[in-house]
Amino acid sequence: MSNDHYPVRIGLQQALEIVAARAAEHRLPVERVALPDAHGRVLAEDLHAPIDLPPFANSAMDGFALRGADLPAIGERAFELAGEIMAGAASAPRVHAGQCVRITTGAPMPVGADTVVIKENVRVEGNRVIVRAGEKPGGNVRSAGEDFAHGSLALAAGTSLRAAQLGVLAALGIAEVPVRRTLRAAVIATGNELVPVEQPLGFGEIHDSHGTMLPALLRESGAEIAVCLRVRDDPAMLRRALLEAAADADLVIGSGGVSAGEADHLPRVLAELGEIHFHKVRIKPGMPMLFGRIGACLVFGLPGNPVSAAVTFRVFVRFTLRAMLGEAAPSVQRARLTGAIDKRHGRAEFLRCTLRCDEQGVLWATPHPQQGSHMLRGLAESDVLVLLPEEARELPRGTVVTAWP
Ligand code: AMP
Ligand code: MG
Repeated sequence: MSNDHYPVRIGLQQALEIVAARAAEHRLPVERVALPDAHGRVLAEDLHAPIDLPPFANSAMDGFALRGADLPAIGERAFELAGEIMAGAASAPRVHAGQCVRITTGAPMPVGADTVVIKENVRVEGNRVIVRAGEKPGGNVRSAGEDFAHGSLALAAGTSLRAAQLGVLAALGIAEVPVRRTLRAAVIATGNELVPVEQPLGFGEIHDSHGTMLPALLRESGAEIAVCLRVRDDPAMLRRALLEAAADADLVIGSGGVSAGEADHLPRVLAELGEIHFHKVRIKPGMPMLFGRIGACLVFGLPGNPVSAAVTFRVFVRFTLRAMLGEAAPSVQRARLTGAIDKRHGRAEFLRCTLRCDEQGVLWATPHPQQGSHMLRGLAESDVLVLLPEEARELPRGTVVTAWP
C-alpha cells in the first residue's frame, strides 16, 4: 500500500490541520468507569445535574434562623428560642413569627425561616435571643440549586477530570462516569548508537534518552504505554517493530531515522506498511518529522535530536492526544520578549524560554542560552516554548508572543 504522493515541507498550520483531521477519525471509544477511576480522564458526554446543589436550603453559618420580616428596623428585638437544628438532623422544626431556632452550618433551614443571624451578632438571655437592627433579611442562607440547578449543564464533554471536577461529580451523586478510553501508545527508538541508560558508553555510543523521555511525556499526557522498543538502523528490524507496536497501540511514536540519511529508514518502511500523511514541517527544531498510519494506528516519526523530539511531541503528539480524546483546547498563553530577536529563516521557531512575571503582572519570556536541538539543558531549565511565526523576522524587545507550557 505504498503512496509516494504526500505533502512535504509544509507549514505548521497545514500540518496541524492534517493531524486534527486524522485524529478526529480516530476518536477513542467511550467507557463507563467508577468515579475514583475517572481521575485524569476526559469526560465523553455532557453531564447535567441530576439534583439541585445544594440539595436543600441550608445555613451558611452557625447562628439563629428566623423570619427576615421580623428583623427590627431600629433598636433591637428579642426572639423566643424555640429549638435547635444541627447539620444532619432528621427533620426541621418550624419557626413562627417572633421565634428563632439555633442552627449550625449546613443544617436545613427550619420551615418558615428565611434568614440566619450569626451567633456573634446576638445576645442570648435565657430562652430569649436579642437581635439588633442592621441584619439583612435572607442573609447567611444557601438556597437550593444555587451552585448547580437540577437539569443544568454541570460538566461539558471534553472536560479534563481533575480533583475539582471529581468533587462536583461526587457532590451530584454521579458514581459512574462516561470517559474516553485511555490511549495506548508505543515508542520505538531507533539508532545503532543507542544503548540502555544503565550501560556504560563504548566508543561513539550514547544513552537512549527517548526511551525514557517519550514514555514519560506520553504518561504526562494521560496515555498508557503499550510497549517501548529500541531497534537498530535496520529496515527489517524496524518493520517488525512497527508491526508489533501498531498491533497493540492507538498511536506509535518512532524516534530517529526519520530524515533522508543513509540510516533513515522510517519514511520508506512506513510508506510500505501503511500510509504517509506528510513528511517535514517548516519548523525549528523538528523539521524532519513524519506523520502517517499503519491500519487504524496513527504513527509519528519524531527526529532523533532530543529537543526536536520533545518540541514536536509538545506541538503535534500532545495535540493528537487531545483530539483523539475529544479534550477541550487549553487557553492560549502570551508573554513579552525580554530582548530583541533577529530571526533569519523562513520556518516557525519554538524557543525554549523561562518565564518571569513583573510587578505589573506582565509575563516576560527570556530565551534559554542553550537553544541547540541536541541541548537537553535548555529543555530541562525552561518553562515554556515560545512560538515565533514563520513570517516573523525582526522582533523588538516587548513583542507579544504565544507561549506553550
Ligand atoms: P537521527 O534523527 O536518527 O538522525 O538522529 C539525530 C540525532 O539524535 C543524532 O545525534 C542521534 O544520535 C540522536 N538520537 C537519536 N535517537 C536518540 C535517542 N533515542 N536518545 C538520544 N539521542 C538520540
Ligand atoms: Mg539515527
